[in-house]
Amino acid sequence: MEIKDWINLARIVATTVDRDRVHISFIVKKKTRLLTIGTNAFKTHPLTHKYGYMMPYLHSELDAFRKLRHPQDKLTLLNFRFSKTGKLGMAQPCVYCLPWCTTVFDNIVYSNHLGEISESTRSSNWECLVGPNGTPQGC
Ligand SMILES: [Zn+2]
Repeated sequence: MEIKDWINLARIVATTVDRDRVHISFIVKKKTRLLTIGTNAFKTHPLTHKYGYMMPYLHSELDAFRKLRHPQDKLTLLNFRFSKTGKLGMAQPCVYCLPWCTTVFDNIVYSNHLGEISESTRSSNWECLVGPNGTPQGC
């Protein structure tokens, strides 16, 4: 699958989530095989407490990760955010997701604030996105 195919698939999944901003995460093995899908559907989960999230709502990448049956390597995270009108937006993992995401995934692909696709590897220099009032930005 090419990136545009993943975006199209994410767009379809996004239609099932009733939120103003929809976050879709795919966990993919060796960049080809889809393992799990996560969304930011409105719900809480005990894992969010374990990882120190201030708001106990499940972020889409954590939703996808908890569905993995066992630890695996060669994993890529694909993270997309859609506005209500279907525009791609910033979906870099937030300050809470980033630490565990860089441990778990070899590559992280995400839509950026320009609606374009960025890709980073485990060893990339990440900047954690924190808004002016200290709230995490991104996913
Ligand atoms: Zn997050």
